[in-house]
Amino acid sequence: MSTIAERLAAIRSTLPEGVELVAVSKFHPLEQLMEAYRAGQRVFGESRIQELTVKKPAMPDDVRWHFIGHLQTNKVRRLVGVPALIESVDSERLLELIDAESARAGVISRVLLQVHVAQEETKFGFLPDEILDYFRRRAFESLKATHICGLMAMASNTDDMLRVRQDFETVASLKSRILEIAPDLRGFDTLSMGMSDDYPLAIDCGSNMVRVGTAIFGERSV
Ligand SMILES: *Cc1c(COP(=O)(O)O)cnc(C)c1O
Repeated sequence: MSTIAERLAAIRSTLPEGVELVAVSKFHPLEQLMEAYRAGQRVFGESRIQELTVKKPAMPDDVRWHFIGHLQTNKVRRLVGVPALIESVDSERLLELIDAESARAGVISRVLLQVHVAQEETKFGFLPDEILDYFRRRAFESLKATHICGLMAMASNTDDMLRVRQDFETVASLKSRILEIAPDLRGFDTLSMGMSDDYPLAIDCGSNMVRVGTAIFGERSV
């Protein structure tokens, strides 16, 4: 059995420069997060507010937390100001709400827009046409306290790696098209794609942020 530090080192050794590794620590206990921290890991991903708000104060201050779970509108107020990046903004309504709550709290929220490209009906996110439309309308110009840093996506949950590659390529080309539509967009450079089973492929397709849980911490017990 390898240790968390060994698995982290093995993964890091495969990441090209400029690719950020988010250690997805949801459902894993603090001791395991601390093991990763001692091995140099500083960016952690959590999918539930409850868990994030317990773990954040228990971990060192220089950890940067990414929120990666589905966010209900009635919980936005509790979340803004807590994570360094909200990766899972899956609707315009949610984005507007995050902006309003961030302005109210006097913080700037950094977010990614989640794109729905997977086959499964259950996955959340903007449809490709919706997201293009959002930028064509230049709706981002009305944001007061939110910075859109890029896109996040999950590929179809399938062994068919051709399909997975297609999903990643769709998202990568969406990012390029958005930058064509709004060439003056600043700091729109993050492409968060790739999990334990498919992150090398995602990087191949242009990802510069991978969200890896199982390959670092092992199977989740939930
Ligand atoms: C759980 C989760 C991951 C990590 O998945 P693994 O297969 O354990 O690497 C990545 N992204 C999101 C959005 C998740 O919810």
